[in-house]
Amino acid sequence: MAKKQFKAESKRLLELMIDSIYTNKDIFLREMISNASDAEDKLCYMALTDDTIGMSRDDFYIRIDIDKENRLLTVSDNGVGMSKEELESNLGTIARSGSLKFRDGMEKKEDIDIIGQFGVGFYSAFMVSDKVTVMSKRYDSQEAWCWTSSGVDGYQVSECEKDGHGTSVVMHIKEDTEDDNFGQYLEQYTIQTLVRRYSDYIRYPIKLLMKRTRRVEGENDEKPRYEDYTEDVTLNSMVPIWQRNKGEVPKEDYDSFYSEKFLRPDKPLRVITMNAEGLVSFRALLYVPGEVPYDYYTTEYKRGLQLYSSGVLIMDSCEELLPEHFRFVKGVVDTQDVSLNISRETLQKSRQVKVIAGNIEKRIRSELKKMMDEDRENYEKFFRCFGLQLKYGILASYGAASEDLKDLLMYHSSTQGGLVTLREYVSRMPEDQKYIYYASGDDTARIDRLPQTEVIKQRGMEMLYLTDSVDEFVIQTLREYDNRQFKSVNDDDGLVGDEEKEKVKQKNEKHKQLLDFVGKALEGKIKEARISGQLVSQPVCLTAEGGISFEMEKYLKTVARDEESAGQIKAQRILQLNPEHEVFAKLEAAVNEDPDRAEKLCRVLYGQACLMADLPLEDPAEFSQLVSSLIF
Ligand code: ADP
Repeated sequence: MAKKQFKAESKRLLELMIDSIYTNKDIFLREMISNASDAEDKLCYMALTDDTIGMSRDDFYIRIDIDKENRLLTVSDNGVGMSKEELESNLGTIARSGSLKFRDGMEKKEDIDIIGQFGVGFYSAFMVSDKVTVMSKRYDSQEAWCWTSSGVDGYQVSECEKDGHGTSVVMHIKEDTEDDNFGQYLEQYTIQTLVRRYSDYIRYPIKLLMKRTRRVEGENDEKPRYEDYTEDVTLNSMVPIWQRNKGEVPKEDYDSFYSEKFLRPDKPLRVITMNAEGLVSFRALLYVPGEVPYDYYTTEYKRGLQLYSSGVLIMDSCEELLPEHFRFVKGVVDTQDVSLNISRETLQKSRQVKVIAGNIEKRIRSELKKMMDEDRENYEKFFRCFGLQLKYGILASYGAASEDLKDLLMYHSSTQGGLVTLREYVSRMPEDQKYIYYASGDDTARIDRLPQTEVIKQRGMEMLYLTDSVDEFVIQTLREYDNRQFKSVNDDDGLVGDEEKEKVKQKNEKHKQLLDFVGKALEGKIKEARISGQLVSQPVCLTAEGGISFEMEKYLKTVARDEESAGQIKAQRILQLNPEHEVFAKLEAAVNEDPDRAEKLCRVLYGQACLMADLPLEDPAEFSQLVSSLIF
C-alpha cells in the first residue's frame, strides 16, 4: 500500500518537535494517557444522553502493556475510537486537533473537557519510538483501522482486527544510544513512576499487568522457591486532586496540575482550595496565574471554571462561576448539587450555581487581600499582570463592584518609592491634608517632569502616579476613599492653604492686564491664562479644566469612533504662569515695550508648556522659527 505523506507543514513541525520542543522525553506517556482519557471523556459524555452506548463512568479504563522482548509499549483505551477518516485527519495533520473539532461540532461547545487542545501531543510518541501503530475502532462501528508511521516519512492506513471499541497506541521503543536510555520505558518501575508523577489525577484507572516474583516457602525440608506471577495493578490514585485534602497534596502537584490541565507555562502565584458544605456543597481548586496568558485580550480567551458534577466533567468553562473582574482565575469546581445533564439555560438560572459563584467571588477577593498583606512581592507581580482587569472591574456597571475592588488597587507613590494601596496612603496623611493627591501621565518619570508636581514633592507630600490610561476614570468612579477626595495636582486650589490662596488671588488681580494679553495672544489655544501658586523652577505649565484631563483626552481619542469625534474631544487648557520666574518679568516688560515680541514670547511659552505636558506641538517648524527669532 502506498504511503501517504504528512502535510508539508506537519512534516517540518514534526521534525522540529521531535528535536526540540519536548526536551523532556518522559512526557510522551502523559500525552498518550491524556489522549486516552479524552477519548473516554467523550464517550462517557455521549453515554449520558444515548442509552444505546450502554456504558457508565465505571466501565472505562486505560491499559498499559509492556512487551520487553519486542520493545513494545502500548497504551489502550475503550473510549470513542476513530474511523479511518478520523485517523487520517487527526493523526495525519499535526496542527489539526481533533479534540477541538469535536468541541466545535457540538451544540454546547463548552460542555466537555478536553485536555489536549493543541494538536502536537500525539507526535511526542516519536521522541521515544521509531515506529508507532495506532489501532482504532469507533464505538459505533464494526470496522477497525490501523495507522502506522515511522516518523517523518509519512504514514499508512489499513484495515485490521480489533476486539472492542477504542484505541491502542503501540510504540516501538527506539534502541538505546550513548545519550539516551530508551529502554527505561520498557521497565514497569519507570512507567509506574511516570504515571504517578504526571497522570495520577486521571479519573479512569490506568492499569498495568505487573510481573512480580514471590517467595514460596517449601514444605517440610524443601528449600523455599521463587515463582513469577502477574498482577493487574491500577497505577494512578484516580482521586482528582481537588478531592484531596490540602495538607496531603505537595505544592508541586498543584502546580503541575495547573500547567497540564490549563496548558500554561507559568507558575501560579496562588493556589486556592475550597471545600464548602452547607446550602450547596462543592469543592473548588482555583489558581491565580503568574503571567498574562498570550490570548488574554482576545476573544479566544474563555472566562470560566471547569464544572464537574460528581467527578464527571460537564462544562469546560462555565462563565457563570466567575465574575468578569476575576476572569484571569483558572480552576475547577466539583459539586453534587448540579445535575449531570444541566443545560446552559437552566445553568444560568440555577440557584446552586449562583451560590457557588458568590462564594467563589468572595474567596478570591479575600485571598488576594491576604496575598497583598502577607506576600507583597507576589501581589505586586499579580497586580502588574492583572491590575488593569481590576480597574476595568471598577468601571464596569457604573462602579457596582468598586466597593469590593478598591482595596485591591495599587499605585506608585512619590514618597514610598514603590506601589502603595489607598489604605496605606490614607493612613499616612497628615491631619491637615484634605485630599489624596495624584498626577497622571504615561509613566512615573514623565509625571516627575511635570512642573506642577514640583511643589508637592518640595513640600514632602505624597502623590500617587496614575500611569494606566483608565486610571483617571477609575478615580472619577471612586470619587473618594475613606471620606477623602481625590485631587489632581493640576488643581492648585487643593494644594495651597487659604492664606496662600488669597495671595495667588491678589496676584491674579494685580497682573490682570498681562493675563488678558496672554489670553488674547493664545486665543483658540487656551481657555485662560492664570497666575499659579504651584510652580517652582519652571516659568509655565499647562493644566486641564472641566472634567476632561489630558490623559483622558488621549485615551478618549484612541477609542473615538472617527476623526471628527476624536477632534471634538478636548480638555480645556489653562496656561499657568510662574510670577517668580525671570521670564515672567521679561514678558511683563515686553507687553509694555514691544507687544510683537511679547506675543511671540506667549507662543513660545505655550509651546514649552505643551511639551512639558507631553502634548504634541501643533506646528513644530513654526515653533522652531519662533525660538530662533527670539534668540536674535
Ligand atoms: P490533541 O490531543 O492535543 O488534540 P493529539 O496530537 O494528541 O492532539 O491528537 C490528535 C487527535 O487525535 C486528538 O484530538 C483526537 O481527536 C485524536 N486522538 C488521539 N489519541 C486518541 C485516542 N486514544 N482515542 C481517540 N482519538 C484520539
